[in-house]
Amino acid sequence: MKKIQIAIDGPAGSGKSTVAKEIANRLNILYLDTGAMYRAVTYIVLSRGQSAQDSEVLKNVVDQIEMELTPNHVFVNGKDISDAIRTPNVSQNVSFVAMDAYVREKMVELQKKIAGDQSVVMDGRDIATHVLPDADFKFFLVASSEERAKRRQSELSQKGYDIPLETLIDEIDKRDKLDSEREVSPLRQADDAIRVDTTKMTIEEVIGFILERIDSEFL
Ligand code: C5P
Repeated sequence: MKKIQIAIDGPAGSGKSTVAKEIANRLNILYLDTGAMYRAVTYIVLSRGQSAQDSEVLKNVVDQIEMELTPNHVFVNGKDISDAIRTPNVSQNVSFVAMDAYVREKMVELQKKIAGDQSVVMDGRDIATHVLPDADFKFFLVASSEERAKRRQSELSQKGYDIPLETLIDEIDKRDKLDSEREVSPLRQADDAIRVDTTKMTIEEVIGFILERIDSEFL
């Protein structure tokens, strides 16, 4: 198989990570969860009791940490923080961290370095528009905020967090707004991306749809 780069963008809970991970698995290529990187910075800032909205603090943290990503794990300075980055507190603060220009510059640099010249499936908000503008395939996943909140609710309940649906809809709407309206690399569909509304689709259907597009042109 020749080199293939696949960008999967979309708002929180649109199914990106699950789908992207499984596609990378089936194609036997690298998967990179870029949201995990912004979450990792957020977690470190919060665990030091500092503000996620202070650009000096963010610069210090980004300059001090050594981040390592594997398909299922995130390590910062050698410590596995994969579960810690998924807490509601991190979700509520991550969009502030992700709007900082310096943080984005450093994360995108690292994303490009990890992907290098190999085949990759990357998921995030700005992959098709900024990180891999020449990706062979670009998908933009969307779903209603109610459906996305339901997915988050069931994910969180498996981890022991019992959060009302209304709270999650509100949180998702707030995060979408911050991610779409920020100045640097806002969440938006690339002109050449294929839009997939996953509201009424199962994960397997979304994976099938994407693989069919790739298959007919590439594999
Ligand atoms: O995908 P996930 O929900 O884990 O992403 C967490 C947050 O990280 C997003 O809400 C967004 O603020 C930020 N993000 C980003 N650019 C990316 C990936 C994530 O700004 N490429």
